[in-house]
Amino acid sequence: MKKPLLLAALLSLAIAAATQTPADRQKVESLLRQMTLDEKVGQMTQVTLGVVSTQQDGVLDPTALAKAINEYKVGSILNVTNHALTAQQWRTVQTQIQDEAKKTRLKIPVIYGLDGIHGQTYTLESTLFPQSIGMAAARNPELVAAAAKVTAKELRASGVRWNFAPVLDCGRQPLWSRFPETYGEDVYIGRTLGVAAIKAYEEDGLKNPTAVASCMKHYLAYSASRTGKDRTPIYLPETEMREYYLPQFRAAVKAGATTLMVNSSEINGTPVHASKYLLTDVLRRELGFEGVIVTDWEDIIRLHTRHNVAPTPRAAVVMAINAGIDMSMVPTDFSFFVLLREAVQKGEVPISRIDDAVRRILLLKAKVGLLDNAYPEPAATANFGRPEYQQLALQAAREAMTLLKNEGDILPLHTGMRLLVAGPSARSISALNGCWSYTWQGKDERWYPAGSKTIYDALSEKFGAGRVSTTAVGDFTNPANYDTTALKAAAGAADAIVLCLGENAYAESPGTIGDLALPDEQKALARAAASTGKPVIFVLTEGRPRFITDIAPLAKGILLAYWSGRKTAEAVSDVLSGDYNPDGRLPFSYPRSSGEIVLYDRKPTEDIREIFNSDMTMDGYKPLYPFGWGLSYTRFEYGDLLLSSPSFSGPGKLTVSVTVKNSGSRDGKHTVELYTRQHYASITPNMRRLRAFKKIFLKAGESQTASFTIDRDDLAFVNAQLRTVTEPGDFDVFIGDRKAAFAWAP
Ligand code: BGC
Repeated sequence: MKKPLLLAALLSLAIAAATQTPADRQKVESLLRQMTLDEKVGQMTQVTLGVVSTQQDGVLDPTALAKAINEYKVGSILNVTNHALTAQQWRTVQTQIQDEAKKTRLKIPVIYGLDGIHGQTYTLESTLFPQSIGMAAARNPELVAAAAKVTAKELRASGVRWNFAPVLDCGRQPLWSRFPETYGEDVYIGRTLGVAAIKAYEEDGLKNPTAVASCMKHYLAYSASRTGKDRTPIYLPETEMREYYLPQFRAAVKAGATTLMVNSSEINGTPVHASKYLLTDVLRRELGFEGVIVTDWEDIIRLHTRHNVAPTPRAAVVMAINAGIDMSMVPTDFSFFVLLREAVQKGEVPISRIDDAVRRILLLKAKVGLLDNAYPEPAATANFGRPEYQQLALQAAREAMTLLKNEGDILPLHTGMRLLVAGPSARSISALNGCWSYTWQGKDERWYPAGSKTIYDALSEKFGAGRVSTTAVGDFTNPANYDTTALKAAAGAADAIVLCLGENAYAESPGTIGDLALPDEQKALARAAASTGKPVIFVLTEGRPRFITDIAPLAKGILLAYWSGRKTAEAVSDVLSGDYNPDGRLPFSYPRSSGEIVLYDRKPTEDIREIFNSDMTMDGYKPLYPFGWGLSYTRFEYGDLLLSSPSFSGPGKLTVSVTVKNSGSRDGKHTVELYTRQHYASITPNMRRLRAFKKIFLKAGESQTASFTIDRDDLAFVNAQLRTVTEPGDFDVFIGDRKAAFAWAP
């Protein structure tokens, strides 16, 4: 074994040892020795709740349940059929499932998993936080951790111990319908926040009723589809794969993540579910991942029905299991069970591979305490819906808010002003929350908590109902919301127009679009609003950057609110009124148009526009708003950068300090970001890479020194031989508008 591989293996053994007790191991080995082939294959089978339910959500069908658990011996169930249930209903469902498992020969409990993506999606009244894209704008790992902890508690209070989160896919393709679930385009932010979430889900030890097993997903490079459409092929050189998509998973494995879900798509013609290279060689051997690998929805049979690499359904099962899959999210029938059993009997899958998978699954069950007590813990119940969670959700939503434009300091608005609140998001709840909100698609407002506020509601409370009017009616799709004549007529009585535009909720493939342009009917609203001569403020509730280039000049203020969860409306009104000074910073480059999708960490030749022969401009990167953009109601000024030395070498460290002064008149938070650039390298260097960030709070007039320590690993990149290396040379370091130079030598 090569040295790094050996080290990785030792490290993962150490992590495994820290989270499993010897008694757990013994229990698992003893179970494994007693298990029949059927029992083993059953453990590897995961079905959806609908398979064991009646037509009515949350009401189980005893015959179907017995069939799944007794006859097919399924080891895992997932999701919800249509919509969220109460925490009590969930506990009843879990209890019935575990009661059934108790009737089996070995009484092995069932592990239940679902998607608590920005809070516990599927429990009514749960606390929903900003989607990851908004959390990335907040640039606050402590906030990510605190939100993940609440999610874990509310899941566990619902009797669920396995969360299919976080999404570690890097959001480098803005068209992708799962962009809102990502931490944006930067690797370092994705890695840092992903690890913060995983640690919070799993901290305290998974047996504790405040923790859940995390699931890093979707391994690997799911977000990099060439067309931008969900579940379509990825073509990716391995240098790029390792530079932008693998580091998040490497860091998550190191942080101890217990499970992983696989990318439904294919990379360079190989479906990831059939890739022994990615699943076994890279993930197991190189990264040292010891936990459970679960497929995504129906992805084994799709090797046969969609990817066309397996000539028969059984060949698909053989391919996936031999590649390294442990559990199949089948999920709507028992075909996987039957086919895998056959494949083992025919010698197409070695029993050693089955034992390996089942051992990992049983160890997961042991780790989350299911082998000690499979039932919902009474102690967890009190952790649901606590008042302080709402405060945290509000804080997270406020920190996500990203002020893109504030011409002539139109914002904050004086609370004496009369406002017209218009546009499709003005009275929508779903367009403030987005995907995975009480339903998968998040569109159905019947399931949102009573008392959820719209932007119109929150502004009316803040400015006084008498001063706020609206032309918006009902949900996002209501035709009245697009009535430009009504808007113009109503504007007469207002001092300013708050126009709420963007996207309604969507998740996964139903969110696929053919164009990032904001729909014409929304642009018509913007033009109508501007034609009144009243100042217009756009509030954008959207999961990905929809082009606003042609209408942006019509607005004096633009606030990007993303889909920021249950407290979005309150956070919007706090920012518009000045009760909160905005501090969000863009986690992606807001593109100008489809021909201008260039990311901030671009290569030199993306930065240079060749006009004619030697006639060049350096404006290849010209998004509407750059990565890291975000205005405040105060001003932050930077002093010169102070370096601990002009050069450093080997494993040494370099400290970069800068004094930041709040020279405006309001207190505020501010994220200080450190970027580097290498002048020359064997692989074309990036024009900039984010290496560190720190969020600080400064009272008006106050100064503070922010210090960062970097080492050679922070300057590393993946070279043509696929090794992560740091090459000697000259570098620039940038913080804000300041720049300094340093050198590194081995
Ligand atoms: C999604 C996964 C999710 C799974 C279970 C799939 O369609 O791609 O992210 O975890 O469904 O809900």
